[in-house]
Amino acid sequence: MPELPDLEVIRENLAARLLGRAVSCVAVRRPGLVQAGPVDLAPLVGKTLHDITRRGKHLLFHFQEDLFLIVHLMRYGWLWHGPSRYEITKTTTLVLSFSDATDLRLIEPGTPQIAAVWLCSDPSQVDPLKKLGPEPLGPQFTLDAFSQALGKRRRIIKKILMDQAIVAGIGNAYADEILFWARLSPFRYAHTLRAEEVEKLWRAIPETLRWAIGEIKLRVGENLFDKEIRDFLFVHGRAGAPCRVCGTPIGEVLFEGQRTNYCPRCQNVSQPVR
Ligand SMILES: [Zn+2]
Repeated sequence: MPELPDLEVIRENLAARLLGRAVSCVAVRRPGLVQAGPVDLAPLVGKTLHDITRRGKHLLFHFQEDLFLIVHLMRYGWLWHGPSRYEITKTTTLVLSFSDATDLRLIEPGTPQIAAVWLCSDPSQVDPLKKLGPEPLGPQFTLDAFSQALGKRRRIIKKILMDQAIVAGIGNAYADEILFWARLSPFRYAHTLRAEEVEKLWRAIPETLRWAIGEIKLRVGENLFDKEIRDFLFVHGRAGAPCRVCGTPIGEVLFEGQRTNYCPRCQNVSQPVR
């Protein structure tokens, strides 16, 4: 599933291609895709795209007359941009054709197809956006706010990092990377963190995400991509491979159906879990 760094690069690269273009035609190709607004998204026709922003794992396409198309790619969705003359594949669930004879297409090759879009005039009133916590790269993500959100929760810190209501945009892969960057065990509980550890974790969040954005950008340049680019990560997806810092084999556990990778040595996992 794409996370904040992937979406930031997609956002930037799509903006370079699409801003200032007008929509000439819309085709919604899967019932249930549109969560808010007319199911055929007809109001988009004729509107010019002014901006693309991101909130958590949602991309917000801002069209003229304050019309917003919000897109959540969920698990398997990807965005494709190219010439309208290219054949539309069976797994394409949304096509926005632009005035320059190019299409922006939402493609969902895996099942279940659960990507979602909303058409609205005020994104702050859309349910999934109402529930989001601060953006980790924004000014509202302060140490005070983060410490308060952690509070004395008896929750595993990895789960807290993935809780979109506490901090927006982080999923399974970057939660692992952030914990490695902070040199904290993914199995620690929030209430056991000392103040200096909370600060270290808070700093690691934007640092890790900014680093990842740069690494992805280096690999894709101006292009889009149809699967996550994760070859540069230190721990996630590297079970058994030597840690790039200390050489210890990267560990892996499954809990609640999700893979967690960590370096037992760098992240001090041999410490008893309290
Ligand atoms: Zn290590």
